[in-house]
Amino acid sequence: MSASNERIEFHVHDLGEAEIASVRETIDSLFLTLGPKVARFEERFAAFLDVPHVVGVNSCSMALVLSLRALGIGPGDEVITTPLTFVATSNAILHLGATPVFVDVERETGLLDPAKVRAAITERTRAIVAVHLYGQLADMRALRAIADEHGLALVEDAAHAIEAERDGVRVGHLGDLTTFSFYATKTMASGDGGAIAVHDPELASRLKRLRNHGVSKDAASRHGGLYQHWDMLELGYKCAMTDIEAALLLPQIPRLWERRDRRQALVERYEKALSGHPRIEIVRRQGRSGHHLFTVQVPLGVRDQVLHGLGERNIGVAVNYRAVHTLRHYRERFGFDPQAFPNAWEIGERTISLPLYPKLEEAQVDRVVEALVETLAQLDRKGS
Ligand SMILES: *Cc1c(COP(=O)(O)O)cnc(C)c1O
Repeated sequence: MSASNERIEFHVHDLGEAEIASVRETIDSLFLTLGPKVARFEERFAAFLDVPHVVGVNSCSMALVLSLRALGIGPGDEVITTPLTFVATSNAILHLGATPVFVDVERETGLLDPAKVRAAITERTRAIVAVHLYGQLADMRALRAIADEHGLALVEDAAHAIEAERDGVRVGHLGDLTTFSFYATKTMASGDGGAIAVHDPELASRLKRLRNHGVSKDAASRHGGLYQHWDMLELGYKCAMTDIEAALLLPQIPRLWERRDRRQALVERYEKALSGHPRIEIVRRQGRSGHHLFTVQVPLGVRDQVLHGLGERNIGVAVNYRAVHTLRHYRERFGFDPQAFPNAWEIGERTISLPLYPKLEEAQVDRVVEALVETLAQLDRKGS
């Protein structure tokens, strides 16, 4: 088989010898789960982000649930968020018995539109959850001002955006709580894993309790001396990070910038090759992106054929995302019209995520571009 037809995966992780050595060290130690490595990870990741506290959990999905829970959000409350996200964002609101209030995104960026957020605020609104789509920060200055004006909490879903900065604001700096994902395909990965960055020390200790059933002391803090009883102070969850996950993550922190720069170089190569194409639209980037995903928008009505064409040419692809309000559970539960949020709907119908990761080679980017251009040309010929 010729090398030029080898499959190009949608994602290839970047874990290697350093991570293996780090996990070995954990296996050779006493603690496998919530223990000293989690504490070290929390310290180092807080230093990387330049935030006061980080709490390690088992996923960004649970990070979102814990964050809203720690804010006291529950039945009768409304939480404003974007429909152009992974379901985890709005599912967290549903799990707490609160009502997700979607507002549309900006057409050019796919990010929450602050003017529409302001217009959606009612006397029941308690919080805004912004999503930093594809790695670009939402307009945090505008959202913070709106939140302060109305006494709302501001949560950042930063699953895509560890490395992001915009208008002089870094991820996690203006949000009360900021959630991160270390799911397999994210820019830092431990298979599954997540974290919450938080400014208020009381919220931080509440989150540490909530991740461990609401129990007053975890095993590591009770270890060493004489037996100490623990108490259960409130109803919590079982969702802490483990020392094995922390061991996988620790060696990745110092490499985040180098990996981001590599993805940026690949994004620039994609953009240079595709920017003049009459059938392809590219999201307008805001500030310093984390470059978690590189997406293109193809004409309405042909996206699924393009996905198919790329698959046939051995290129791994994904869709991030079909708008949440168009998914069955949300449609049936809330009776949403697809056109209720036309920008999110349109991006969701037109978007394709192309391979983007540090191990991707320039020649592979060129092959992806070639396959995309070829597929679109073939569809043009069929259509005419
Ligand atoms: C991946 C992702 C999540 C969920 O992260 P998990 O760690 O898999 O729970 C939440 N929000 C967004 C925007 C994501 O991309």
